[in-house]
Amino acid sequence: MANQRILVTGGAGFIGSHLCERLLNEGHEVLCLDNFFTGSKENIRHLMDNRRFELIRHDITREVFLEVDQIYNLACPASPVHYQYNPIKTVKTSVMGAINMLGMAKRLQARILQASTSEVYGDPKIHPQKEDYWGHVNPIGKRSCYDEGKRCAETLFMDYYNQNKVRIKIVRIFNTYGPRMQPDDGRVVSNFIVQALQNKPLTIYGDGSQSRSFQYVDDLLEGMIRFMATAENITGPVNIGNENEFSIIELARLVRELTGSSSGITHLPLPENDPVKRRPDISYARELIGWETRVQLREGLEKTIPYFEQLLRKSS
Ligand code: NAD
Ligand code: UDP
Repeated sequence: MANQRILVTGGAGFIGSHLCERLLNEGHEVLCLDNFFTGSKENIRHLMDNRRFELIRHDITREVFLEVDQIYNLACPASPVHYQYNPIKTVKTSVMGAINMLGMAKRLQARILQASTSEVYGDPKIHPQKEDYWGHVNPIGKRSCYDEGKRCAETLFMDYYNQNKVRIKIVRIFNTYGPRMQPDDGRVVSNFIVQALQNKPLTIYGDGSQSRSFQYVDDLLEGMIRFMATAENITGPVNIGNENEFSIIELARLVRELTGSSSGITHLPLPENDPVKRRPDISYARELIGWETRVQLREGLEKTIPYFEQLLRKSS
């Protein structure tokens, strides 16, 4: 595709910063919009000297007028600790953010991709999860500001497509990890790595038998970019995630092994509505965009651990 001017909302966050970098490397012009709630300038410092990169401090719950060809809408806190900090703001970010970005896409006839989530499946009763599963979500629980906000955003995306012919794409992202997650982010991969490197006990919530399928960030970027380039009548949703499922106990053991840590394990209460299991069915992504997972968990952790080692060295 010819070089485009691309807006990445949430571009200073974990996934967003990798996406900005990748799009710049492909020759595009990138506008990174962020309110720095969970993102940081540190994540994008290395991009600031690039003449094709621009940083905009803005909150997507308010309208904004920019001129772009494509929009990746990633702005939204993703860790349960962060999205539950101010649940009303989380809903506003997903819903009002989607309305503002869709309005902009409509005005510009731009393509727009929504970073949705496997959380729309809630605590799933169907396993693995396929895109046609409607999910099992508590609308009034602790996680609902995120789950329901993202579900409503999907509704808005489909309605703008059907009613206004906006060129939308919806990607349902499964648990993704990698360098530039915040060390105090609260998500399991960053928590375990930081705890292991500090030889502190690994905090397993519940008995650790619950499972997740962990995807390395580069695989996600490949899926998102390929999906953005699909024909206009392809809207998704499409699952992008790793098919290999691990229990939280297995993850803890692997992190301990790879860090050579002497950390013990401590069990803490399981958070409310914590999904018991989660694994994507990725046959649609495979068929549609020929997408496959490339980086498995062990290799992905080996790429991620040095980032946290360096971070902890700097802060000590
Ligand atoms: P993150 O918290 O690192 O990044 C989110 C970014 O959005 C941050 O830079 C934050 O400052 C910014 N932001 C939040 N609210 C904003 C607002 N109102 N206006 C402008 N910017 C705002 O999280 P991440 O893991 O990089 O997630 C990125 C996106 O991918 C999110 O939409 C998330 O829901 C989605 N997602 C992530 C995962 C995952 O496992 N990492 C899984 C499913 C979906
Ligand atoms: N978890 C854990 N210890 C931690 C952080 C999380 O055992 O220090 C568990 C959490 O209860 C959940 C799983 O790990 O079952 C994944 O949690 P995360 O917050 O990373 O993602 P999500 O629950 O949103 O999938």
